[in-house]
Amino acid sequence: MFTITGVRVFDGSASTDAPVLTDVHVSGGRIVATPPPGAEVVEGRGRTLLPGLIDTHVHVERRAELAELARWGVTTALDMGSPRPAATLPLRHLDGVADLFSAVYPAVAPGSATIRQMGYPAHIAVPGAADAQAWVDARIAEGADYIKIAVEDPRQPGTTGLSPATVTALVEAAHARGLLTVAHAVTAATHRIASVADVVTHVPIQAVASGARVVSPTLTMMRGICDTVGRRFALRALAALRIAPRMDFAHALGSVRRLHAEGATVLAGTDSNSDGTAPFSPAFGTSMHQELRLLVDAGLSPVEALRAATSVPAKVFGLDDRGVVAPGKRADLLLVDGDPTTDIHSTVRIAHVWTAGVTAFRSM
Ligand SMILES: [Zn+2]
Repeated sequence: MFTITGVRVFDGSASTDAPVLTDVHVSGGRIVATPPPGAEVVEGRGRTLLPGLIDTHVHVERRAELAELARWGVTTALDMGSPRPAATLPLRHLDGVADLFSAVYPAVAPGSATIRQMGYPAHIAVPGAADAQAWVDARIAEGADYIKIAVEDPRQPGTTGLSPATVTALVEAAHARGLLTVAHAVTAATHRIASVADVVTHVPIQAVASGARVVSPTLTMMRGICDTVGRRFALRALAALRIAPRMDFAHALGSVRRLHAEGATVLAGTDSNSDGTAPFSPAFGTSMHQELRLLVDAGLSPVEALRAATSVPAKVFGLDDRGVVAPGKRADLLLVDGDPTTDIHSTVRIAHVWTAGVTAFRSM
């Protein structure tokens, strides 16, 4: 039980631009409306309290990765595909670390580079639209929280792609079971196909339009790929991600700028991973703060970037118990020095992190 006193609150809501000074009370892992008797006092003056951050795109295989996420204020993490679900699935919903959700396996085409080069089993291939419902039902049986579809571009060397009809059938099959869909797409052509999904993850790093309405651009990953391709990891990166040879991070920023201006919903996600076959591996936790800064570089206001990491992904993914600071919600909280609603760089000035009311990090 504790009360954070006199603190500026960014409540994560879509309607509150001006933070207010208040006391926030926590008891039993939840935010409560009234001070619990005997509550410990946490000094909030000069600080801002935020909902714990939600990383909408990670690949997790170790508890230490969830601990690192929580240490940096990321209290919820959405795994977007694991070649080893036996390692990933038991990491869901552990105390004291980031709360994990999982897609289990991604849907890919037979012959996909995901299978041939990234260690995913061959049985996860979806031959055609007629196989979509059985594939989705198999993931549900394994415990998938949502469905991930990797829409690869067959024109890139070393891979094959799901047909638009198969992608659409997978989305419909997931919706028939009440599950949300997230589609991976890196090139212009695949972004158009992927736009039938509820969320598109990644943005094109060519100067092109996208039809996505909800996007998790993973700018940290896009920048990492642009930095590494053409250098020592060039061939491996091209083989692994099947991306066009002409890449420019300015195009990724421009894609987000245009999507945001057109009214698309933007979600913060990093693609953090420790996968040796990936072209780049954003660090767990710290990369979320880089992503927030890159979203501001792409034209979001600091408040919009913070929403993209809190209330907006909570709403999109149906995580009704989190993403805002309000009585009744999980006490997933991030207390920082300064005011990130005006200076996004303040998000790394972390004083305290709680996951469901349990201290995950406290500065000296
Ligand atoms: Zn990923």
